[in-house]
Amino acid sequence: MEATQAKNSKEIVQTLWKKRPLIISGPCSAETEDQVLETATRLAKTGRVDILRAGIWKPRTRPGMFEGIGAKGLPWLQHAKKITGLPTTVEVATGKQVEDALTFDVDILWIGARTTVNPFSVQEVADALRGVDVPVLIKNPINPDLELWTGAVERVAKAGIKQIGLIHRGFSSYGNTEYRNAPMWHLAIEMKRRNPEMMIINDPSHISGRRDILLDVAQKAIDLDFDGLMIESHIDPDNAWSDAKQQVTPERLGEILDSIVWRKEDINSEEFHQAMEKMRQQINQLDDELLQVLSQRMKVADKIGQYKKENNITILQTNRWNAILERAFAKGEKLGLSKEFITKYFDAVHMESISHQNKVLNS
Ligand code: PEP
Ligand code: MN
Repeated sequence: MEATQAKNSKEIVQTLWKKRPLIISGPCSAETEDQVLETATRLAKTGRVDILRAGIWKPRTRPGMFEGIGAKGLPWLQHAKKITGLPTTVEVATGKQVEDALTFDVDILWIGARTTVNPFSVQEVADALRGVDVPVLIKNPINPDLELWTGAVERVAKAGIKQIGLIHRGFSSYGNTEYRNAPMWHLAIEMKRRNPEMMIINDPSHISGRRDILLDVAQKAIDLDFDGLMIESHIDPDNAWSDAKQQVTPERLGEILDSIVWRKEDINSEEFHQAMEKMRQQINQLDDELLQVLSQRMKVADKIGQYKKENNITILQTNRWNAILERAFAKGEKLGLSKEFITKYFDAVHMESISHQNKVLNS
């Protein structure tokens, strides 16, 4: 009986691994058996959730916070799976945790952001996974470093794990921003480009850190062709033992999922392809023109460099740089270009310009 059940849940997971969008939800932390069971039941009732998540061991930034219920919560998840049929996923950070989770039939393991940063820890988890057939999801490291993320994928793959997926949960940055963890979408997109066959799901909860922007972040992920979402849910979000501000009730989760406009990656109609092709050509044309203009701009920078060399003047003239930026912000606003973009763009142009002038000055 148990063997049949185990086999069934393996088959379910095999099918779910290919399901799009794949939806994972559940509490940040398992707190009590009742809380886990009620969350799971209400999530199952929405009919929109594929996999039940719950933190059992919580890596908290500061000591003294709730550090997870520990292995005693694992049978609760097993029970929830039995009642709802939802496969389960849990974060693991040590070899022992991998062992415990597998003992209690957790279906999918995930490596958290604070673990992905540490190759020693990732290696320990990978070693515990050797010879085990279980899918593993790997969150991005807390710092914006794609090599660390890639390294974790490689370590787990080298341990023989065949099914590896990615979770984009945003990146830490100092100071308060709109987000708890800045999404830095371009990094997730680059990771997707490097691993075209690998599933990548988005975690709007840890990016947002608050309820009111969950839907926006989730929609953006779907617009960017992410394969699914992991969103935290709790029967009483305000009183959750961890991450209270970002959790939503199972019913609210259902509403959020209903509000998302689910996009198709591509469609086959000839009309669509023609319209897209035309616009893509326009983009290519404009990109070519931009490159031409940038190249001309650098030629002027070379001339300025030559002039500075002849007159023995420093390259960086702070006043001039501030004036350029102020002018660009004002213009950009009228042209519908954000201050953030203008800043990044001019930074890049300025650096290139300085490097051109450097060459001239030292030639
Ligand atoms: C979590 O999913 O509850 C968690 C701890 O996430 P992260 O590793 O992304 O901080
Ligand atoms: Mn959490």
